[in-house]
Amino acid sequence: MSSVTPFLDSDLRLGRAVALIGAEEGKYPAGNSLLVVGADTSVLIDPSVSVFDRGGAPAPVDRILLSHAHEDHMAGIGVFPDAPVHAHHEDLLGVRSLDGLMEMYGMTPEHDAIFRDVVLDEFHFTERPDACGFADGDRFDLGGGLRVEVVHLPGHTRGHCGFLVEPDGVFFVADVDLSSFGPYYGDHWSDLEDFEAALARCREIDARWYATFHHKGIVEGRAEFLTALDAFEAVIARRERRLLDFLAEPRDFPEIVAHRLVYRPGVDIMWADETETRTAQRHLVRLLRDGQVHEIEPGRYRAA
Ligand SMILES: [Zn+2]
Repeated sequence: MSSVTPFLDSDLRLGRAVALIGAEEGKYPAGNSLLVVGADTSVLIDPSVSVFDRGGAPAPVDRILLSHAHEDHMAGIGVFPDAPVHAHHEDLLGVRSLDGLMEMYGMTPEHDAIFRDVVLDEFHFTERPDACGFADGDRFDLGGGLRVEVVHLPGHTRGHCGFLVEPDGVFFVADVDLSSFGPYYGDHWSDLEDFEAALARCREIDARWYATFHHKGIVEGRAEFLTALDAFEAVIARRERRLLDFLAEPRDFPEIVAHRLVYRPGVDIMWADETETRTAQRHLVRLLRDGQVHEIEPGRYRAA
């Protein structure tokens, strides 16, 4: 079923072995997939809807590696029915079954029913019950000294990972996407403080190129990467500041959710309230823990 398709002008070649295969600048629902061609083995990381639409990749694909189990990163899996699929063991349930994927999002029953159809119809979700788990530090040797190393970067999901391609010096950071939207940690499977620790880990990794699944695409050199990472991480502090400012007056939790920390007031995304609820909870929990906010009566909060 899968076939070798030519490179397109929108593909970015990074040295001899690596290419970022993208479309529409990685804007959701599209994304940038990373193709790594070794002497013995080729892997495709995060096959996007664009890969599905192309019906293949510009090289035979022996294995698929997933940064995490989200619909947009798995849309092209069905194009490669014979390629083993690998993901971090904490995200395997979302690769192995649709029920598992929906559990990771944690939507209300009404939204779950709607989004299941979207995942199937628009993202071509293909269950892979045979998917294999990997862990931080695991390596895939592709021959000729080329290797892909797993870097566990949890927070966006529990099993979210980056991949470091050496000796070429390409670090695929997946949904540490350096966007102006900022880090997304609004799913059942997300965690704010894990995300912050993952950002700290990204800072330590010295690469020649940094590749994101969305938006930025390629950042060249560590200095530019750290500048982009600073701006990306600053969004977390901005959300927390917005919450603290709002709590200058006593508020209950529904008021906080309605005030919105993540999406702009006019944004009409189906799951906005669920994302806002989890994001606000995560910030509120630590502000309470750190004594910056007090619960002045049950369910009512005010900044200290
Ligand atoms: Zn994601």
